[in-house]
This record gives sequence, structure tokens and C-alpha cells, in this order.
Amino acid sequence: MSKRDATLSIVIPTYNERENIGPLLSGIGGALKEAWAYEVIVVDDGSPDGTAEDVRAAAADDPAIRLLERPRKLGLGSAVAAGFSQAGGDYWVMMDADLSHRPQDLPVLVAALANADIVVGSRYVAGGGTLGWPLHRQIISRVAGKVAHLMVGVRARDATSGFAIFRREVVEPLLPSLGLEGFKLLLELLAKAPDARVTEVPITFVERSRGQSKLNLGETFKFIRLCWRLRRRFPDRR
Ligand code: UDP
Ligand code: MG
Repeated sequence: MSKRDATLSIVIPTYNERENIGPLLSGIGGALKEAWAYEVIVVDDGSPDGTAEDVRAAAADDPAIRLLERPRKLGLGSAVAAGFSQAGGDYWVMMDADLSHRPQDLPVLVAALANADIVVGSRYVAGGGTLGWPLHRQIISRVAGKVAHLMVGVRARDATSGFAIFRREVVEPLLPSLGLEGFKLLLELLAKAPDARVTEVPITFVERSRGQSKLNLGETFKFIRLCWRLRRRFPDRR
């Protein structure tokens, strides 16, 4: 696939990411500009730190950048789903705003679309990993992955990744039912599109150096509730 064949819609949810969004947008431009046609849709949930102002300024300079503003923090999954509902591209990317997902990994993920409907940027396949996470975050992530595997039965090693690309046809029909619960849109999609061809590509997740994580106990409970709602949708595991 090349620039001429297809377009990418990159959806980036933000809540108080003013320090990160500028460098990320530049990084995406640097990683894709010559090779791929793309648009970036930043979905900002009324960040008090003024993230939206910086995105508006970037959008004024670059027609590939768009801002979707929501009035308040309505949940990460629903933010990504809202961005997807505005996406015009053939392939829909979701990635975090805090530079944990490296723009230079984008072309590698895109290349894997040749044989897949869903490409997961995976911390838990050979060659992938996390950098800078304290032990408790490593444990939370591993436990969440196990819970997702056991309860929902998804095949991916990193079903809770926030970095992934979806073929438009896979996600579009599911949009009305997506993102209602918490952080983990990929998990929902894997569960609701059991016939999709899934490939995992190793990424290095780099813990944010600026701003704060929004993961908290409330999100952890929502994750468990999501797993319960999605439980065992795969016929072969019933
Ligand atoms: N985020 C968001 N709305 C929320 C929570 C998070 O838009 O309610 C964004 C956040 O700005 C970041 C991404 O989602 O771009 C991942 O969040 P975070 O870095 O806080 O999570 P972590 O990486 O610590 O799991
Ligand atoms: Mg983060």
C-alpha cells in the first residue's frame, strides 16, 4: 500500500496534553509526510490546560489536522469512537497523545495492513516492550491482559493496547455500539469483530515524560465491567 492507494485517519484523544500534542503532531508529520496521505483528528474533551488552543493553531497551519471538541471528559473509548465517526480515510488509527506511542512506529504498523484488518501495536510480542513504567503499572497491564484473555477470549497478546489500526469496513458497522465503556476500545473491537484478521506488530511503549496519566481506580472498574459485558463472545470458547 502506498500514499496513492489509501488514506489514514489518525484519531488522537486528549485530556490535558498541551505539553505533548505539539511534538506529537510534528512527529506524525515527520514520520508520514512524504509517504502517506493522512488526516489527524484530535478529540479533546474540554481540557482545562488549553490543549484545544494549541491544536487549533496547528490546524490553522496544516489542513491535515482537525480538532473535534467535546464539552467535558466523556471517556477515552467514546472519544476515539467520536473521532472515527468523522474519519474519511480507508484505515483508522488510534494512538495516545502523550508520545507513549512513537510516530516512527506508524509506518511499520501501516505496512502490516497488507495482510490484516486490525493491526495491533503490541508490547507483548517478541521485540515489543515498555520503557519507564514503574513495577505497579507493569503488573496492572499484565493482569488486565490476562483478565481480557480469560474473560473475553480475545486472541491478541496485547488486547489492551491503545495503539492500533483498523480497516474502515471492520469498524464502521460497529460504531454505534462502541466506546460506551471506559478506556479499551481495541478490546471491544476484537470481541465484536471476531472474524477480522488480526496482526500484532512489536512496539516500544515509552512512558510519558510530561503531563499525568488518567488511569485510575474508576477506569480499572470500568475495564472489569467491560470484560464482563464482552465475555466469551467467541463461539469456540463457549
Ligand atoms: N485520554 C482522554 N480522555 C480520558 C482519558 C485519557 O482523552 O478520559 C487520553 C490521554 O490524554 C492520552 C490517552 O488518552 O492521550 C491515554 O491516556 P493516559 O496516558 O492517561 O493513560 P495511560 O497511558 O497512563 O494508560
Ligand atoms: Mg499514557
